[in-house]
Amino acid sequence: MQCDRCRRRAVIFQRYSGLHLCEQHFVADVEAKAKHAIRTHRWMRSGDHIAVALSGGKDSSALLYFLTMLTAQRRDITLSAITVDEGITGYRDPKQAIRIAESLGIGCLTASFRDEYGITVDEIVAKKGDACSCSYCGVLRRSLINRIAREHGVTKLALGFNLDDEAQSVLMNVLRGDADRLLRRQREIDGMVPRIRPFLYIPEREVALYAQLHVAGIGLGRCPYAHNALRADVRAVLNDYTLRHPSTKYALVNIGKRLADTGGAVQDGIRTCETCGEPCGVTCRSCQILREVFGSAA
Ligand code: SF4
Repeated sequence: MQCDRCRRRAVIFQRYSGLHLCEQHFVADVEAKAKHAIRTHRWMRSGDHIAVALSGGKDSSALLYFLTMLTAQRRDITLSAITVDEGITGYRDPKQAIRIAESLGIGCLTASFRDEYGITVDEIVAKKGDACSCSYCGVLRRSLINRIAREHGVTKLALGFNLDDEAQSVLMNVLRGDADRLLRRQREIDGMVPRIRPFLYIPEREVALYAQLHVAGIGLGRCPYAHNALRADVRAVLNDYTLRHPSTKYALVNIGKRLADTGGAVQDGIRTCETCGEPCGVTCRSCQILREVFGSAA
């Protein structure tokens, strides 16, 4: 197939746009969408220190590459990476993430569940079973990355979230009947480093291709606990439906944004946890998890 813009060989067909694109026009399209997201959401300001939460997988590696290129001439922006070793055997070798950051000339801050919490995700699963592995892992990882970012003066935490991730999140909130979360407007919370998601409007397979074209040594492993997440079911349903209705993921992300923009509900009652010092609601979920795992707060 030929590119619809220049007649070179196409590397991808975008079902939602009806376009075949060659490598050059595909890369330009991805970068234009990411820049548009950054502009629209005002996600980059002079003086920012942006840290990419880097797992070494395709999304975060592609994002680190993109932001490295975007900020190469910007002396007013600092870029770094943060990688966390959750302790999941055969998945996410932190050395891989560090190598990717080094190859782009970006400094990488590292931490591990073992050092910070005294336990790995594998050990939590051995103690508590794997049914809740993702909620334990996700809460502890978010809390740890936020603390590292805050302690190093990071002003924006960049996440490799793509269109598929966001559409899945919207649908998951619908399926859970979680209207509060659907209506929750993002706002600044003391102690919480603001998050940015430049790949918000780019489908997962396009981020994967962009990563493949630009970054060597990406981790392709799949988390052994991923099958437990509601997200895995929603992802399968959504992918199947999108084959027949190609713009569905964009529709979900847009409706999610429209609902959040109504600002019908805000997150009240945010406080600082007396035990771990992180922002939290009525109870600190991280400390609650550690109490469940150890029998007392670590
Ligand atoms: Fe953690 Fe679940 Fe992601 Fe695995 S799939 S890394 S357990 S959140």
